[in-house]
Amino acid sequence: MRVTHRDEWRVTATVKPRRPADLGLTGLDELAEFVAVGAPITVAVLPRRLGRLGWVSMGDRLASRDVEGDYRRRCEAIAGELRRFPHVDEVHVACTETHFCSYCGCGWEELTAAQAANPREQLDEHSVEGEPVCCDKAVYEFRIARGIEPLADGRGGEDA
Ligand SMILES: [Zn+2]
Repeated sequence: MRVTHRDEWRVTATVKPRRPADLGLTGLDELAEFVAVGAPITVAVLPRRLGRLGWVSMGDRLASRDVEGDYRRRCEAIAGELRRFPHVDEVHVACTETHFCSYCGCGWEELTAAQAANPREQLDEHSVEGEPVCCDKAVYEFRIARGIEPLADGRGGEDA
């Protein structure tokens, strides 16, 4: 089964400063009115680690029973705060997704349409686009779920 791991959580935002204070350049209000920016400034705001509790620091898994959900919620809270600034827009929560196989632990890869049609790359004549390539168990599960003929000799099945 394909399992998705999400990490590197971040909030991306585009900052369009209008006044010096929007850039943290305070104390210029009496003298200055506008700030000109050549191009939009894109920033990534990273959440504080879940295990960093101020007076003590621990691994995320010790601090949370739902690391992915807690990081998502923390980033959504950051995004909510950022959206309150008039000079910040296009705020998005993002993360990096890694897909791997629950059976063999390898990175998840699937046959492309061209590979599935190529006799040198297909496992047998029943291979189709989207079929996993890592191990027999993943192939067996994929084919059973779609009513496709399993590999010869039941390879990948429970009793194989
Ligand atoms: Zn596998």
